[in-house]
Amino acid sequence: MSRRKHADWQAEIYDKHAGWIAGTRPHMSVGDGWADVVSRLFDRISQALAGEPPSTKIVIIDIKEKYGELRVEILAPVGPETEAAIDQAILLAELRSECTCDACGAPGRMRSTLGQSAWLAVTCDDHQSGYPRTVGERSPKRRIKDRFGVFEITYDRAADSITKTRVAGRREAE
Ligand SMILES: [Zn+2]
Repeated sequence: MSRRKHADWQAEIYDKHAGWIAGTRPHMSVGDGWADVVSRLFDRISQALAGEPPSTKIVIIDIKEKYGELRVEILAPVGPETEAAIDQAILLAELRSECTCDACGAPGRMRSTLGQSAWLAVTCDDHQSGYPRTVGERSPKRRIKDRFGVFEITYDRAADSITKTRVAGRREAE
């Protein structure tokens, strides 16, 4: 995609967090509009590591856009509390990507091209050219299941936080 141009922001984020990143720094295949989404993610991971030994290193395996949204794959040899905090940071980043224009970073919606094999992208109103169909919410939602039950997560972009509601007495939609 022409939007994905090489950008210095990736090197800046990697440099800022060099203390806990192990091994190589994979190129993040995401639009420049998501620089702030990724920056917030790395800041949150850094905070999550506060309770771990200073020698703790995280392997960044892959950070990319897939089906229009951010996908993050890392390897973190950490305790369960830190792991939960990192999982939460990744969830927040993925939900933020679903409502952040990948070209400019403004609030956006998931949109798609027309046709059978549609491409997905999150765009603002100014960058929606080529993606005429709006398929996503302003406040992205996600249904998750953990050992405590099934929950609906709703993302609040302004607050950069989620609300979690138990979906009582219902089976998971999938
Ligand atoms: Zn935009």
